[in-house]
Formats: sequence, structure tokens, C-alpha cells
Amino acid sequence: MKTKELIASLDGGRRLDAAEFAQIITDCGADDLAFAMNCANAKRKAQFGDEIYLRGLVEFTNYCRNDCLYCGIRRSNQQVERYRLTTEQIMDCLEQGYSAGLRTLVLQGGEDAYFNDERMCALVSEIKSRHPDIAVTLSIGERSRESYRLLREAGADRYLLRHETASEWHYAKLHPSSQTLANRMECLKTLKELGYQVGCGMMVGSPFQTAECLAQDLAFIQEFRPQMVGIGPFIPHNATPFANERSGSVEQTLLMLSLVRLIHPKVLLPSTTALATLHPDGRCRGILAGANVVMPNLSPLNVRDNYTLYDNKANTGLEAVEGLAALERELATIGCRISKARGDAPGF
Ligand code: SAM
Repeated sequence: MKTKELIASLDGGRRLDAAEFAQIITDCGADDLAFAMNCANAKRKAQFGDEIYLRGLVEFTNYCRNDCLYCGIRRSNQQVERYRLTTEQIMDCLEQGYSAGLRTLVLQGGEDAYFNDERMCALVSEIKSRHPDIAVTLSIGERSRESYRLLREAGADRYLLRHETASEWHYAKLHPSSQTLANRMECLKTLKELGYQVGCGMMVGSPFQTAECLAQDLAFIQEFRPQMVGIGPFIPHNATPFANERSGSVEQTLLMLSLVRLIHPKVLLPSTTALATLHPDGRCRGILAGANVVMPNLSPLNVRDNYTLYDNKANTGLEAVEGLAALERELATIGCRISKARGDAPGF
């Protein structure tokens, strides 16, 4: 089958296998990408109309026990100034976001032992008791089943844990041997069983990635049926072993977003800051490729520079909460508007 026919059959609801996904990725020309984006954008509109969901992102700690080779806050990077926000600072971020109309708070951080179950549960309970109408999303990496259970009980609604790559071999190229794909996948399965709305995802163009790796990612996403998928281009960070690697391409990221929207028409799909970092129109192009979520940064201005996962991360302007009016104008240029809803996954 030709690339366009494969995309059309995915659009029509057929499942593809990894070899078919790999063929689309390998053979995709400019025309095919435009076709995939048009189909995906139509699916987004059919499901969500002109509404884009917002998530207020609080990067509350950059301490991390892990040593992912691609990440600027990896344990081995001694050039980064480490910080952790106090409960009071996190509550200030919450209030700022709440009064700006945001109804989802994403707490993201490195794997920081300070934020043990007791402290994390207290934080989640405090947020929920102040604003019961807020959805709390956690993105704090791999923890035990018991920990995920306690956090869910404390009121956490959603959990983002990118699988990073569904290929065992590729995973081992991106992480030290103490971190395994098997554990990451087990965590994702557990989170789903515990009733979280779960997000997996991957970087596009990470070192050693092949078309087959991305095809495996898509096949995994098709099978796992996550409620959310986080996809952004890999961007090198100067103080990591991948400092001299090339960034992922905007076009390939757009293709992945489109294919994920076609695989799961109801999925919650952010147009990521990494995409906006690589291209001035990145955020809008992501939406035109089927994304329906934007995550404005609520972190205090004085720590944003220290949560640098990759170089030149966009950290002022539209991706920040101060820029909501400008974001509204930007979205209007592509016929979209900010939703005031909590934006749960359809069916939740
Ligand atoms: N520690 C949590 C975890 O492991 O899921 C959440 C924080 S982690 C920094 C969030 C995501 O940033 C990762 O899942 C990864 O995909 C992304 N990331 C890290 N370094 C990156 C880079 N150099 N380029 C693009 N994305 C990157």
C-alpha cells in the first residue's frame, strides 16, 4: 500500500502493525505529512471543536536521582543549580493559575527523594481541599505501586510518565542500566489499574532512534490505549553526553502527533514546549497536526532557568501563564480558543 493509503486506512479506523507504521515514517513526503495533518486536525475538531485545554505546569523540583543521558537535570549534571519549591510557593503557583482560569495543575519534577509519599500526599490533599474542582496531574517518575495508590487516594487524577521509547535496545542507549524499560512499562500498567488517566509518550529524534523505534512506539500506544500522549522533539542539552547530537525534526514530530490522533481520536495530546522551542509557529502547527492541549508554565520566574531539560527552552512568552492573552490571540489565528473546562479524557 502507498503511504497515503495507509494513513487513510488509519483514519478510517483500521489498526496498523509496526511494519506499516514504519513504512509511513520512512516514506512520508511533504504531501503525505500534509494529508496526515489534515485528517488528524479534522479528527481533533470532530472530538473537541475549537477548544484547546490548558494545563498549568509547575516544575516543583529539579533534584533527580536518575541519570537519563538526554536530560539536563540528570543527576550527573553538576552545573545545574538545584531547587525545590516550598508548599507555600507551590500554592502561590496554584492560586495564580486558578485565578487565570486554569483547572488542571501538573506537578512535574525530577525523582526527588525529599518528596516522599507523606509529603507528596499532603501536597495533593492540600491542593484538592483548596480547589476541589481542580484536576491534579502528577509527573514525578517511577514509584512503587503502593506510592501510586496512596497518591491516587490523596486525590491525584492523572499521571504523565513518558515511556520514552518502546524499544528495549533503544531504551538502553538512552538510560543507564539501572533504569529499565520493563519497570517503566510496569509503572504505566499499574497507574492504569489504579484508575489514573494515564499519559505515556516519547521524544522524536532522540539519539539512535530509527523509524522502527518510532513504529514500535506507535504500536505500543495503539495497544496500551493511554488517555494522554506527550510527544516532543529531542533537543540536546550542553551538559549531557548527548550535547553534540542533533535535534529531532519538527516535521517528524508533527507526523507522530497526527498518527497518534488518528490511532486514538479521543486522546489528550499536548502541543509541547519543545516543539514551540524549535519553531516559532511550533505550538500552532502542533495543534494543526491534531494536538488539543497547551501547558502554560506556572513555575516562579526565578527557577525557570534551572529547569532546563534541553538548551534554549522557551521560558517566557506564550508558553508562560503571563502570556495567556497572547496565547488566546495566537490560537484565534487558527480558529481555536482556550477552553475553561477541566478537560478530562472523554469517558472519565
Ligand atoms: N522525572 C519525571 C519522569 O521521568 O517522567 C518527569 C520529568 S522528565 C524531565 C519529563 C520529560 O522531559 C521526559 O519524560 C523526557 O521525555 C523530556 N525530556 C528530557 N530531556 C529532554 C530533551 N533533551 N529533549 C526533549 N525532551 C526531554
